[in-house]
Amino acid sequence: MDNPKVIFLIIDGLGDRPLSELGDLTPLEYAKTPNLDVIATEGINGLMTTLGRGKVPGSDVAHLTLFGYDIEKYYSGRGPIEIAGLGIKLQHGDVALRSNLGTLDTNSNLIVDRRAGRINDVSGLIKDLDGIEIDGVKFIVKPGTGHRAGVIMRGDGLSANITDADPHIDNVAPAMPKAKDDTKEAQRTVVILSKFIETAHKMLSDSDINRTRAKAGLPIANYLLVRGAGFYKSVPSFESRYSMRACAIAGAGLYKGVGSYLGMDILDVPGATGLPNTSIEAKFNAAKDSLPNYDFIFIHVKAPDSLAEDGNYMGKANFIERIDNAIKILFELKDVLLVITGDHSTPSALKKHSADPVPIVFRGPGVRKDNVTSFGERACAHGGQGYISGIDVMPEVVNLVGLAKLIGA
Ligand code: ZN
Repeated sequence: MDNPKVIFLIIDGLGDRPLSELGDLTPLEYAKTPNLDVIATEGINGLMTTLGRGKVPGSDVAHLTLFGYDIEKYYSGRGPIEIAGLGIKLQHGDVALRSNLGTLDTNSNLIVDRRAGRINDVSGLIKDLDGIEIDGVKFIVKPGTGHRAGVIMRGDGLSANITDADPHIDNVAPAMPKAKDDTKEAQRTVVILSKFIETAHKMLSDSDINRTRAKAGLPIANYLLVRGAGFYKSVPSFESRYSMRACAIAGAGLYKGVGSYLGMDILDVPGATGLPNTSIEAKFNAAKDSLPNYDFIFIHVKAPDSLAEDGNYMGKANFIERIDNAIKILFELKDVLLVITGDHSTPSALKKHSADPVPIVFRGPGVRKDNVTSFGERACAHGGQGYISGIDVMPEVVNLVGLAKLIGA
């Protein structure tokens, strides 16, 4: 028999805390999840602490850890991961920055709108910025979603240890990037980046697209607000580490970025938005259809985290019920190890991430079972996996699909 394939579903912000409004249940416990409960019954369950006790994970480091990448070694800021999600191949030594296109009022010299009226497409505006060279450093500029863009600095002797040009609030002057250390690399990077921001500002101010916007009374997108500089260090691909051909199915950019950062193929799924209106069925069907081509399929669902961050516990419970209904698509697949967990907890009462452990289930051919019969925070605490740390999840996956190597004789 071939090794089973893996479908790894990460439900963002899945874990929660009991709410008196839900009769002392968490949104996951409150939600009616007959299918997830069957998976829990047929599988082995536990609670997963992504980074360790008391450590509150950001979604980017949480995902790297779940895929078995030590963040001390492989994480260098959100910039490179987001940029990888735009489909840009990064090279070792690149400095990657996220950016908004904002509105600088040239009379007051204030950023009056950090998102330029939430302009929905910046590709026409930034195409002439792509490829500019300043003092031997090439700038690669690509559109992101809406008012966002990715900026890469490629050249020798650069540093990502610099501050943001984005003031993060409206009606203040744009900040110029500053070096955070005394190295000549950081000094050189801020000088060149500042020149680029000035050049870009001139070019954007002269653009026909902005003239048309101004005539229509819309905020012009004339200023690059760069932030989150990260130094790209080459990362061994997921396939080279695990001998599994992998793909990622996600709506939101950051998670496509994580997949791309690790060399996974990114599947474009119409209807996958990363928002509560996403088509979960479309994602699960895409996973099912791609099964012949891949050994490992990562599916990401964002909405439970965003809903909990809004304090919308009922929305989170309802969305979990939608996942439960759609999961029938994956449920019936043969020779598949199905792993379901979250990247961290997002308690709806806190409206932010927490370090509380998250339920996890492994269900597939040959996998041990336990006595857990429902998928929830307190039920999974009695599972056969016990408490598992995020970095140990992939080794467990590798073991369960039969790829783990013998140690010793
Ligand atoms: Zn997350």
